[in-house]
Amino acid sequence: MYDIAIIGLGPAGSTLARLLDKKYKVIAIDKKNPEISKCCGGLLSPDAQKILAQFDICLPKDVLVDPQIFSVKTIDINNNIENFYQRFYINMNRLKFDNFLISLIPNNIEICDDSICKKIEQEDNIFCITLKTKKTERTEKAKIIIGADGANSIVRNTFYKKNKIHKYVAIQEWYENSVNSPFYSCIFDKEITDSYSWTISKDDYFIVGGAFPPNDSNMRFEMLKEKVKNSGIFFEKLVKREGCFVYLNKSIMSTCTGKNRVYLIGEAAGMISPSSLEGISYAMESAKILAEIINKDCENIGYRYFMKTLKIRIRLIFKILKIPFMYNKFLRKLIMKSGIKVIRKHSTKNT
Ligand SMILES: Cc1cc2nc3c(=O)[nH]c(=O)nc-3n(C[C@H](O)[C@H](O)[C@H](O)COP(=O)(O)OP(=O)(O)OC[C@H]3O[C@@H](n4cnc5c(N)ncnc54)[C@H](O)[C@@H]3O)c2cc1C
Repeated sequence: MYDIAIIGLGPAGSTLARLLDKKYKVIAIDKKNPEISKCCGGLLSPDAQKILAQFDICLPKDVLVDPQIFSVKTIDINNNIENFYQRFYINMNRLKFDNFLISLIPNNIEICDDSICKKIEQEDNIFCITLKTKKTERTEKAKIIIGADGANSIVRNTFYKKNKIHKYVAIQEWYENSVNSPFYSCIFDKEITDSYSWTISKDDYFIVGGAFPPNDSNMRFEMLKEKVKNSGIFFEKLVKREGCFVYLNKSIMSTCTGKNRVYLIGEAAGMISPSSLEGISYAMESAKILAEIINKDCENIGYRYFMKTLKIRIRLIFKILKIPFMYNKFLRKLIMKSGIKVIRKHSTKNT
């Protein structure tokens, strides 16, 4: 019998597992293959950097990738405008980042990183978790369940199904790259998606991806690639293709922190920016808040966790308010034409 079962060891689950007091008997479960990365831009935002600084965590060099990029090229295909904006991200290898956070989890936590959580049932005050590995199936019992299992969370789907949230499909492909200059771009095109698409360079690879409505995501992704090719980008050999669900939190009511000994952190709680899809900072911050509350042995964890995540929800409200300015063609044109915060590129032409 465990005091706490954490389902998912992304940035949210591994942060929580690292911070929980040793007095608790904790099991942390993840289905991930340590060789396969989550489909992600792998950009560490200033907010995420700040949380790492609060934890006094420095990133090892091998988590970073080449090159570090200081601006985003915003391509508005519908209005035919391109602008550069300054950005303060760290370009990193997402797989190595996740594995690094897991490496910080203390030994007292029992890690099952080869197990998929198939089912969670409640029997009186105990939760029975059915775990499946390649060869076996077994049941573990816990008094508290933490859903840190990202988009399409089994914990959220089991206990908070009524709390609806938009689910998109993210697809990205990695290509060998020896000819295209490295850059990071955000692409807006209503025909492709009502969210956004991107390209990014990482080491010797050029990555193209997007977040699409679920029913015709493949067709939309092919359309994106065609448009990127037509803009002059050369696609070399395909190295890998990644995909996952992503929660698009278009209403603050879709955020769900949980109650009655079943709590959600990170993307499972809907804590991800719907405008930029940035979510690592929310994952680590929500984990930190929940760990502090659980460690204090508080009564009424659900209520306290809900209240203490108010700041996160306020930040998310601002991100939701940004949506029309990013995704409405007319408003986006106004903003981009205004020139606010645009970086003027220095011309290197010889006279
Ligand atoms: C295409 C894309 C690009 C993104 N780019 C960025 C970016 O550049 N910067 C940024 O900050 N954010 C980005 N995000 C958002 C970011 O990836 C997430 O917000 C963040 O990973 C959430 O962390 P998490 O720990 O809550 O969930 P996740 O990182 O999704 O981790 C969930 C974990 O749970 C495990 N799991 C799931 N279900 C089960 C199960 N049933 N049994 C066992 N284990 C399970 C998974 O294996 C996974 O390890 C991006 C998202 C997408 C989709």
